[in-house]
Amino acid sequence: MSKPIISPSLLSANFLNLEADLEKINQSEADWLHIDIMDGVFVPNISFGFPVLKYVAEKCNKPLDVHLMIVQPEKFIKEVKDLGSMMMNVHYETCTHLHRVIQQIKDAGMKAGVTLNPATPVSLLKDIVADLDMVLLMSVNPGFGGQKFIPQTLNKLKECRELVDSTGSKALIQIDGGVNLETGKLLVDAGADVNALNRRGNSLRIHYDRFYSKASRALCAYFKDCGALIHPDSPDHKEHVEQVRKEAQQRAAAFAARRGILLQPVAEQPAAEEPAPAPQPVAEQPAAEE
Ligand code: ZN
Repeated sequence: MSKPIISPSLLSANFLNLEADLEKINQSEADWLHIDIMDGVFVPNISFGFPVLKYVAEKCNKPLDVHLMIVQPEKFIKEVKDLGSMMMNVHYETCTHLHRVIQQIKDAGMKAGVTLNPATPVSLLKDIVADLDMVLLMSVNPGFGGQKFIPQTLNKLKECRELVDSTGSKALIQIDGGVNLETGKLLVDAGADVNALNRRGNSLRIHYDRFYSKASRALCAYFKDCGALIHPDSPDHKEHVEQVRKEAQQRAAAFAARRGILLQPVAEQPAAEEPAPAPQPVAEQPAAEE
């Protein structure tokens, strides 16, 4: 039986202590790390850019699930690939030549996903769904935090499930926004494969820095125990994710080793044979007379 995939969002992290939060994700049962990149153009907000994500990618040992809420996402295929990303997800609304962009993402060796805004109908994916590895349904409007889950998403999810299954597509279905214990159960029952978790809009109201450890453990356990879901079991997908996971673990190990090397010279300083001369007290200078 297939189990739902949990992909906690980096947006929920404490950016003043990103390393600690990433470690929590590394230790958690989360399957992927969801990364929302915003450009302040397609969505009215800016999140983080590639220089920050380079370090995130090195530290995180989970496959990266990159969601680009940006115009002209095709310009950044190389950057997303260079992070070692498993999935590159672009918005339907930003791609005039969606088929081409999907092929380019695949040619770069990544899984390709397409996201639909709440007002964009599922039926628009009819001619491309067979080529997709994931369809992401936004269950809030992208770019704002603290929004409520849009109930219509459930009907859309059922429609999407039908479309995916009837076309033999191997696409996973991901839901992004307002996923919590209450909506999560409904989503899993309606056939969601992947749930992006974000503390914003989280009705659990748990303390922020315990989100990944405590709440997401509870959610993960809940989703994983829930037998309601059957998603397309693609061996190809599993193999690819496993490969990406190994690479991510190697990156994280290399990152830790580099930090070790940087720290070592300081830790291994031999004790000085002669104590450094004590600083000479500075005689108080009388104030110069002018
Ligand atoms: Zn997202």
